[in-house]
Amino acid sequence: MPVNKEAYQSLITELKSRHVKLVAVSKNKPAEDILALYESGQRDFAENYVQELVEKQKQLPDDIRWHFIGHLQSNKVKQIASFVHLIQSVDSLKLLKEINKQAEKNGRVIDCLLQIHIAQEETKFGLDEQELDELMSQYANLLMKNVRIIGMMGMASFTDDMDKVRNEFKYLQSLFNKLNQPLSENDKLPTTNYQLPTLSMGMSSDYKIAIEEGSTMVRIGSLVFGERT
Ligand SMILES: *Cc1c(COP(=O)(O)O)cnc(C)c1O
Repeated sequence: MPVNKEAYQSLITELKSRHVKLVAVSKNKPAEDILALYESGQRDFAENYVQELVEKQKQLPDDIRWHFIGHLQSNKVKQIASFVHLIQSVDSLKLLKEINKQAEKNGRVIDCLLQIHIAQEETKFGLDEQELDELMSQYANLLMKNVRIIGMMGMASFTDDMDKVRNEFKYLQSLFNKLNQPLSENDKLPTTNYQLPTLSMGMSSDYKIAIEEGSTMVRIGSLVFGERT
C-alpha cells in the first residue's frame, strides 16, 4: 500500500492546531516510502529495530530526526548513538547508563523518554510507578552529563474499549504532571529541576484520545504509511 499523502496532510493540519508533534513510524516500510513523506516535509521518523534503523539511516537524508521506539538492548546502543535524535523507550537505569556512556564517546547529549508501562498487558515493556521514582532519583544523583530525560512515553492496551485506553492515558498524564511539579510542592518525589516538555502517547487508533488527555507527541504508522503486512 502506498503512502497516504492526503491522510498525512490532514493529520498535520489537525496536529498543528493542537501543538502536537508527529513522529511517523516507518517500521517495516521501505526507504522509498519514507522519502515520499520526507518530500511532503516530514522530518521525524521512528523505528523499533536497531538493524533496520541503522540501514535506513545510511540510505536516507541526513536531516531526518530518527527516533527509537522499540525495546532497546544495552549492547546495541553503540550502533545508534552517533545519530539517534530521541530514544523513547528507556526502561531501566542500566540502559540509561549505557546511553550516557555511548553518547559521551560520540561527544553528544542524547535526549531520552522514559517508557512507562500503562497497559494492562504483560507483553508491553516499561517502568511502573515505583521503578519510575527509583530511576528518577538515581538520575538526579548520578550526574549523567550525556543524557537528558525530556519526558515519558507510553502505549495503551490494544483493545476496542476506548474508556480503558483513555484511563491508561490519564494515568500516564498524571505521572507526567507529578514529575513536573516544583520540588517544594512535592518533596516526596524526586524531580528534575526543569520542566519535562514531552509526553509521547497516541498511535493511529487512539491518537485523538491521547491528545485530549494531554499528549504532546504522537507516534503514527499505519494511518500515513498504510497497514503493515
Ligand atoms: C508500531 C508502533 C507505533 C505506531 O503504530 P500504528 O498503529 O501503526 O500507528 C507507535 N508506537 C510504537 C511504540 C510502535 O511500536
